[in-house]
Amino acid sequence: MFGGSDACRVGRGWHCNQVEPMPDLAKQVVKTYPAQGEMQLFRLAGATEFNCSRCQNTKTAKLVAVVSGDWNRLLCNGCYGKLLSEQ
Ligand SMILES: [Zn+2]
Repeated sequence: MFGGSDACRVGRGWHCNQVEPMPDLAKQVVKTYPAQGEMQLFRLAGATEFNCSRCQNTKTAKLVAVVSGDWNRLLCNGCYGKLLSEQ
């Protein structure tokens, strides 16, 4: 029997690497700010439309915060700042 890493190589590897298709937003990151708790702020190459998971508003901005590294859980700069101040 082989170890886990060998099993990963012969398998499809989806459960090993957990590499998901990179969201369009993530491709535009030009600057990564230090993580603040489970939130991390990113600067995008240009103003980009996204939905804030907290205030539910559609925002167009260069700054976007991501919760727990999950690009499906985005925060606008306003909510990011508010959550930071509440920590
Ligand atoms: Zn928001």
